[in-house]
Amino acid sequence: MTKFEALGLQESLLNAVSDMGFETPSEVQEKAIPILLEGETDLVALAQTGTGKTAAFGFPLIQKIHKESRTTQGLILSPTRELCLQITNEMQLYSKYEKSIHTVAIYGGASITDQARQIKRGAQIIVATPGRMKDMIGRGLVDISKIDYCVLDEADEMLNMGFYEDIKDILSNTPKEKSTWLFSATMPKEVAQIAKKFMHYPQEITVGTKNSGVDTVQHEYYVVGGRDRYPALKRLADANPDIFSVVFCRTKRDTQKVAEKLIEDGYNAGALHGDLSQNQRDLVMNAFRKKQIQMLVATDVAARGIDVDDVTHVINYQLPDEIETYTHRSGRTGRAGKSGVSMVIITRSEMRKINAIEKKIKQQFISKKIPTGMEICEIQLYHLASKIKNTEINKDVENYLPAIYDVLQGIDREELIKKMVSVEFTRFSNYYNKAKDLNSSEFGEKRKKGKDQNGAFSTNGSIRYFINIGERDGYDWMSLKDFLRGTVGLDKEDVYKVDVKESFSFFNTDSDVSEKVLSTFTDLKVDGRFVNVEVSNNPGGGRGNRGSKDKGRRKDRGRGKKRDRAQGQATYSGKRRSKKRKSDFF
Ligand code: AMP
Repeated sequence: MTKFEALGLQESLLNAVSDMGFETPSEVQEKAIPILLEGETDLVALAQTGTGKTAAFGFPLIQKIHKESRTTQGLILSPTRELCLQITNEMQLYSKYEKSIHTVAIYGGASITDQARQIKRGAQIIVATPGRMKDMIGRGLVDISKIDYCVLDEADEMLNMGFYEDIKDILSNTPKEKSTWLFSATMPKEVAQIAKKFMHYPQEITVGTKNSGVDTVQHEYYVVGGRDRYPALKRLADANPDIFSVVFCRTKRDTQKVAEKLIEDGYNAGALHGDLSQNQRDLVMNAFRKKQIQMLVATDVAARGIDVDDVTHVINYQLPDEIETYTHRSGRTGRAGKSGVSMVIITRSEMRKINAIEKKIKQQFISKKIPTGMEICEIQLYHLASKIKNTEINKDVENYLPAIYDVLQGIDREELIKKMVSVEFTRFSNYYNKAKDLNSSEFGEKRKKGKDQNGAFSTNGSIRYFINIGERDGYDWMSLKDFLRGTVGLDKEDVYKVDVKESFSFFNTDSDVSEKVLSTFTDLKVDGRFVNVEVSNNPGGGRGNRGSKDKGRRKDRGRGKKRDRAQGQATYSGKRRSKKRKSDFF
């Protein structure tokens, strides 16, 4: 018996599960499915996005639907159009072998008549955003008076977005004796109130810790001067050449501005906010899914429901007003069992916010320094070398080789390599040559009090190392740290500033253990390959102070620039300012 079978799922669902390649149930599925299948009950499930919660309510819902009846029996409310479409899509995959079950999505920004027509044909399950749902109820286009199940998905998000009244109205059109299943990443008091008001003795399940961030996410903050936010953002991107990130800004205006600047500076960036038309948002999201966009600059509202699993970094260009929002932001990375990094760019005066978030998420932030220009040059150089090594040779290049050989005649291998990497290196070093230190120094000293990031004491000098293994070898910062600790025989605090790139990485130790580190790796083979560790020329702490300003522009990074620019600038009116909300927490 498979683990899914043991949960009590019927054969048609098991077949769909195997088609989708799910091998084992996720924690929330393991906990929720048996409860929901066993009897009629209300349920409150605390689970982050990316934990497999759609299937946790989707499988039982499909199994419980009377497929011979065309009446609407299940309603799923979700905060955004994107999420609504994702859920519908997943539900259709799950019910692939239940041809008579129809799931229809209803959401704003699309034809209400088309949606009404689909409902009329018979939809046992409706997935809806609250605004459009209420509208359709008002016009008599849907009938939810006979539903047996109501799912409130991402309940905290729906309330954050101000849907409380709509939800209340919608629920007042449903029968009292239905079952309500509420899924939420966090449990602020507003969600608890909904549970209390609309649910009867709900069973509770929690995946991970209540109200905490996912522990696959490393939280980092970088203290900079107020005017250095943007140059700091660019350096963080340059220091992570394979970054695939969501950059959060507080307002639509800032979102658009930052995206435009990034595009202008040659980054593969795009903007996602509410002033874009639905069609433009779809274009940006598609480009992001295809990784044509590496930096998606978004407002919190627009980013809700982004269901992309391999986001490597979340960058808080500005912190949100509410802590709950930070949890949602950082939950966009570290999904589906992968590790991720949530970076916060802050000014000194915002430091108390970090402490407040730490308390809430029950995780410590690591104080990090914006990389210096030279560190970035070094990273880019190694990145280029590994890119050259791993590039597949394009056979069309053959035609041009005789002419190329002619041009390069007389240059030996060593010189050729030097010249080749200099192309990129010079570009970065010209740009960063006189770049100033962006770190707000006064502050760094204050909070550190003798401790470095990861809690390591830095009384001994710190040594930065280069190691020739990285993501490509299956490492992330957590597993590389474990590997180094285990292999060298060090304590948890001894290895810090671990930065994993695609085919190489950096890390630091205090100087008193450096001999131990280097001697371990003089002749060490892992999986038949020599693992090489060298002392890197840079300290890895952003300590350089090169005086003059971080000015000048990066050259075009090529790929996708034109298209991205068009998207980024598409509809920004510049006139509307979004209202500043009063801070609830800070
Ligand atoms: P969700 O939290 O529902 O948004 O799901 C996140 C992603 O995980 C979706 O792409 C699902 O298709 C996928 N997923 C859900 N359950 C499983 C599972 N048991 N095994 C593997 N992937 C899953």
